[in-house]
Amino acid sequence: MALPRARVLVTGGAGFIGSHLCEALLAEDCEVLCVDNFYTGTRHNVAHLVGHERFELLRHDVTFPLYVEVDQIYNLACPASPIHYQRDPVQTTKTSVHGAINMLGLAKRVKAKILQASTSEVYGDPEVHPQVESYWGHVNPIGARSCYDEGKRCAETLFFDYHRQHRLQIKVARIFNTYGPRMHPDDGRVVSNFIVQALRGEPITIFGSGAQTRSFCHVSDLVAGLIRLMETPAEITGPVNLGNPETLTIRELAALILAKTGSRSEIVGRKLPEDDPRQRQPDIALARRALGWSPTVPLAAGLDDTIAYFRNMLSGIGAPDRAPDPAPVSPA
Ligand code: NAD
Ligand code: UDP
Repeated sequence: MALPRARVLVTGGAGFIGSHLCEALLAEDCEVLCVDNFYTGTRHNVAHLVGHERFELLRHDVTFPLYVEVDQIYNLACPASPIHYQRDPVQTTKTSVHGAINMLGLAKRVKAKILQASTSEVYGDPEVHPQVESYWGHVNPIGARSCYDEGKRCAETLFFDYHRQHRLQIKVARIFNTYGPRMHPDDGRVVSNFIVQALRGEPITIFGSGAQTRSFCHVSDLVAGLIRLMETPAEITGPVNLGNPETLTIRELAALILAKTGSRSEIVGRKLPEDDPRQRQPDIALARRALGWSPTVPLAAGLDDTIAYFRNMLSGIGAPDRAPDPAPVSPA
């Protein structure tokens, strides 16, 4: 007899990573419930999935309880780009912390496995390089990035306490910078910013000296890693780093995008944002060992498909180039 289909909840499913995850889960024959309040995600990201017999879209804010019946939960709901998560920092902390409590409570009630989309930001401005999961991080608790960094750290704490106290099956992924189609053109993250600036012939804005380093993982690799992690045996909880160790400076990234787009945009300097990490590179030995996972898309190839996506969008062929829906008004 065939096993029953997994019923999977993806919070933040209408966002950049979430929409790719919903697609991949449908391809794996799952029933997918995508929950999103459209704060930074858009209906457009999942418009092609609406109407699929195993896909359902629900507008809901995870800071409020949710009562559904599912077997697995991927908790991705949270704005991820610095300009978005700093726009309403209190809501960002609430989304991370209350959202985690609500989704963990749901997982406990229905005995679902639950995966948290944590972040390399839990390492802050790291003094250990590359970052290993055993490193506790170097995070400012009161700065502009703290609503996100500390919110995500607290969510990890909650996951591990629910695991110890209530025997919940948890999986914690520490996601490093991820890029690809469906990033929002105005979300301020460096890959989308540089590509959109280059295609529009606008100045490429390098924050600080541009000597800070990052490692960029293509969204298809990241989604494969998340699904692999969810499928691991119960004793594997993470946290596990998911990212591409290929590292470059922000200045090198600008040069690569200029070359690939053939743009003649000039490079201009801008002030470095507060607490901007100087270096970041995942150590993915654990992911290789425990998940048998490593990224397969080199940056050069991943940039090609991301540039093609934004080219279509800016010429009006692809997704609409518009701001995300405004924040929903919370009930009093
Ligand atoms: P995104 O902003 O595109 O997606 C986040 C989604 O969550 C959006 O659709 C948004 O509308 C939704 N959301 C926000 N608050 C919500 C709430 N209170 N209730 C319901 N939905 C809500 O960002 P993304 O890049 O797709 O990131 C997805 C997850 O991965 C986030 O949790 C983020 O912290 C994590 N992450 C992303 C990266 C990256 O490089 N993209 C790196 C590390 C971690
Ligand atoms: N950055 C930049 N120009 C931009 C946007 C970002 O130089 O237009 C820099 C930013 O200061 C940071 C790096 O690129 O050092 C990555 O920024 P992003 O916001 O994409 O992610 P995060 O800082 O969270 O890693």
